[in-house]
Amino acid sequence: MEKSLVLIKPNAVQRGFIGEIIARFERKGLHVAGIKMMQLDDDVLDEHYAHLSHKPFFRVLKDSMMVTPVVALCVGGLDAVETVRLMVGATNARKAAPGTIRGDFSMSGEQNVIHASDSIESAQAEIERFFGANEIFEYESAVTAFEYGCDEKAKM
Ligand code: UDP
Ligand code: MG
Repeated sequence: MEKSLVLIKPNAVQRGFIGEIIARFERKGLHVAGIKMMQLDDDVLDEHYAHLSHKPFFRVLKDSMMVTPVVALCVGGLDAVETVRLMVGATNARKAAPGTIRGDFSMSGEQNVIHASDSIESAQAEIERFFGANEIFEYESAVTAFEYGCDEKAKM
């Protein structure tokens, strides 16, 4: 099953949105395969945000990700990476569509409540970055037949 990596950022932890954000993924039908709270450090953020190391906001971004622990989530489903990104919305939350997580919970382009993997390749790398192999669980869902059509299930 395709999986994506989500981080509930410190600003969402502080504002009390952990439960509401997780509930949205569950309600959608994405299955939780891994979940934990963790304190990020400079080293893991250098890796995680390497694509932004040249940006003027890099230091501030990394600091903002260490203010409290984050909640790391691994969620799975058909086309999980793309579906999660659609649910998350645009990076600048003021421009994120209403109904998306950023569109509904944030006014900021930095303090935008959530991280989600942006491709299947980065999802694989990010899941390995934040979870050990024994922290990702593959278990039979009792309701898959009611969440997907036959042709869709065959693709999973
Ligand atoms: N960010 C920022 N200012 C910007 C662009 C990004 O502070 O102009 C922060 C923001 O928190 C964003 C993170 O850097 O979520 C990672 O940026 P990326 O371009 O990967 O956006 P994302 O994938 O999170 O939508
Ligand atoms: Mg990104």
